[in-house]
Amino acid sequence: MHYDIAIIGYGPVGAAAASMFGKKGFNIVVVEPKKDIWDIPRAVHFDGQVQRVFQTMGISSQIEEIVDTMTGITFLNHKGNKIVSLDMTNAPRKNSYHEDVMFDQPKFERILRNEAEKNENIDFKIGSYVSNLIPNESNNILEIIDINTNQKTEISSSYVIGSDGADSFVRKSTNIESKDFKEDEDWIVVDYLVDDKFEINRQRYQVCDYRRPTTLLPITGNHVRWEFKVKPDDIIEDLEKEENIRNFMEPHLWRLHPDIDKNSGKLLRASKYTFHAVLAENFKFNNCFLIGDAAHQTPPFLGQGLCQGIKDAYNLCWKLSGVIEKKYDKKILESFSTERKEINNFMIKASVEQAKIVGSLDKFKAFRRDVFLTLARIFPKLQGVLTFQYKWQFKNGILDKDLYPNDSNGMIIPHPDLSIKKDNKQFDEYMDDKFSLILFNLKKEEINNVNKLDSVKFFNGCIHFFDENHIFMSDGKLLKWSKKNNISALVLRPDKHVYGCCDSKDIESKVDKLINKLHNELI
Ligand SMILES: Cc1cc2nc3c(=O)[nH]c(=O)nc-3n(C[C@H](O)[C@H](O)[C@H](O)COP(=O)(O)OP(=O)(O)OC[C@H]3O[C@@H](n4cnc5c(N)ncnc54)[C@H](O)[C@@H]3O)c2cc1C
Repeated sequence: MHYDIAIIGYGPVGAAAASMFGKKGFNIVVVEPKKDIWDIPRAVHFDGQVQRVFQTMGISSQIEEIVDTMTGITFLNHKGNKIVSLDMTNAPRKNSYHEDVMFDQPKFERILRNEAEKNENIDFKIGSYVSNLIPNESNNILEIIDINTNQKTEISSSYVIGSDGADSFVRKSTNIESKDFKEDEDWIVVDYLVDDKFEINRQRYQVCDYRRPTTLLPITGNHVRWEFKVKPDDIIEDLEKEENIRNFMEPHLWRLHPDIDKNSGKLLRASKYTFHAVLAENFKFNNCFLIGDAAHQTPPFLGQGLCQGIKDAYNLCWKLSGVIEKKYDKKILESFSTERKEINNFMIKASVEQAKIVGSLDKFKAFRRDVFLTLARIFPKLQGVLTFQYKWQFKNGILDKDLYPNDSNGMIIPHPDLSIKKDNKQFDEYMDDKFSLILFNLKKEEINNVNKLDSVKFFNGCIHFFDENHIFMSDGKLLKWSKKNNISALVLRPDKHVYGCCDSKDIESKVDKLINKLHNELI
């Protein structure tokens, strides 16, 4: 049997990829050995950008049901006193979604799988794993083994997407090396369910106690995630014992509710994780691609590993779909690795820095940190070192670097308020997964002249005129942003990142050059 795409691994990233590519109508096979969704969560946090991806996937309303907004996080010192508190309620919302929400991973995966499984063009081989992969430029050969019967089947596919996690078989089979940042850290990860008679306080804490750095995060409902750093002389088996975990939690429990004690809840799990910081040297080999943990692993202190995995899938989807549909040349697939590696490299380094800040075991370094963070209360700009908000801007890939350099190129365009809809669609959904040209506040004559250009045919009608009365400008966000960055015309990529833009001087000629440049990059 031959498929257009073989998706290896049906964890959250593979399920997101299956849903995205499935909707395109390709002939797809998904291979996964585990029969069921793992009912113990790992990831707990989404950012605003990944919630925009959910909007384009059509699952926003379902996601809304399973998230809890993070209103703030407080950093405490070893005495339990507040060092600094970040109020997230009024944090800027460039993506219009709240930038930090907590979610329930098993419920999330169920949503993703339900979406993917609506597609009759996907052949699900659940309960099987890939045991051999011969990656050929023209045709990948895969051997699949059914774990119940041990029966081997051979299939082929034009493209392979390796979403098979940290120990990726696809990565190994394609001989892709990884860079190890050598920042491994052991933490005990605990999931705890407080008795439902208590309504717990939803503040989140990072207990920067050099004697036992601890993370305390109410997730959704009464589910609380704890993380306790392992010290060099700890004995892991002892640490993981239920009695020990309850003792670790005890001094902090009053923060959740004044009346709870160490026996007021159910321990769902306590397991040691080694948090790695590892990045694949390339996210592509021939027609095989790596996404999610197969391509990058990161300490979870920014809550980004899964978010970036889904963004990998989203980045790959428009490029690979365009190539399969023969709209774009295969050369654009190289940019998948370039762009995603740049972002994930940044993400790993930022997460490692955050891990160092919160997890210091050194009394004197911890003291220096506490002084610094205390100063951040007085000078909020210093709080930047603790931020969870990043631009996620790539500087290389499919974007204009030379014609009209602008700080916005490679960045995601701001999203108007979520309540604003056109044709009953929010901005990203309305813009669809196509290249589009947006003209901001131009005079009629200028619009006509741009419209007459032969090159604009490239957009196949996806040309938008945003003047001050346009519904998507009504909250002022896009208006302010376009003015601040001096943007009169903008080429938007299918993933809502800015390809390039220009001001209004000689706009016709500038737009023409920009489109021709894009055309050369794609075709
Ligand atoms: C404690 C902790 C907290 C975290 N918190 C966050 C957070 O708040 N936010 C966030 O964004 N991220 C977070 N992360 C990271 C996040 O959990 C991972 O990045 C994400 O789960 C990776 O998903 P994945 O689908 O890439 O890989 P996986 O979930 O590992 O899925 C890979 C799948 O591939 C399958 N597979 C493996 N080999 C084969 C084969 N040969 N053939 C077929 N299938 C195969 C496996 O069975 C598995 O189902 C956290 C991680 C940890 C450990």
